[in-house]
Amino acid sequence: MNTREEQPSSEAGALISARGLRKSYGRTEALRGASLDLHEGEILAVTGTSGSGKSTLLHCLSGIVRPDEGVVTYGGEQLGLLSEARLSEFRRHDFGVVFQFGQLIPELTALDNVALPLLLAGIRRGPANERAGEWLERFGVRGQADLRPGEMSGGQSQRVALARALVTGPKAVFADEPTGALDTLAGEQVMTALVHTAKEAGTAVLLITHDAQIAAYADREVALRDGVVHSGSADTVGREAARHEG
Ligand code: ADP
Ligand code: MG
Repeated sequence: MNTREEQPSSEAGALISARGLRKSYGRTEALRGASLDLHEGEILAVTGTSGSGKSTLLHCLSGIVRPDEGVVTYGGEQLGLLSEARLSEFRRHDFGVVFQFGQLIPELTALDNVALPLLLAGIRRGPANERAGEWLERFGVRGQADLRPGEMSGGQSQRVALARALVTGPKAVFADEPTGALDTLAGEQVMTALVHTAKEAGTAVLLITHDAQIAAYADREVALRDGVVHSGSADTVGREAARHEG
């Protein structure tokens, strides 16, 4: 038996590994020892009720927030040991992030929103626009290229936000309830487009959702409960917990 309080080491072949993450906001413990592996090219759903720490986990994994304790490893490097400059380089080149409400820049057209990460990466306007147009096409919103976010539906905006997250060819995309503000049909269309394009590009996706139907699009599902990751769906974990408590 293992008597020592040791975190298991990161799994071989994992693209991103988190071990023993703890993060508190004042007296609220958002993460209480969360561990997780995201494999190359895999779509992993993280489910859990509101307040269970899902967004905090995503922010720690994507290097937006530094955990109080624990380690996040990406490509053999510990994110916590990187300089701010190196970390933002990883975020720009290797990661894409999508939030619940997309967070497109309201003054820019759909095309310019998607081209922006390419321009920031030093790609010239012509080729950047061309590639942005291709990604709008992949998500079925090329016809909306010249519209601003205020002129598009929620589903169209989310497709544009996903195109923007994937356009640089990241190794991993972190999506925080990307269909949370959409109706069922729009949510399913966005998920179909995301799964299709991520698989085609070999991009790993960490998909946060509290919707079992959305989680069903993933290759694998884990559940976050009170800041700790459990394998299996939220339902299974809930039943397990009820059995132990009851
Ligand atoms: P989820 O995304 O699953 O709803 P969060 O990770 O957003 O959960 O939040 C987990 C807990 O941490 C909640 O109790 C939330 O109120 C708290 N929390 C998250 N972010 C902050 C913050 N920036 N300041 C204070 N409390 C926070
Ligand atoms: Mg959240």
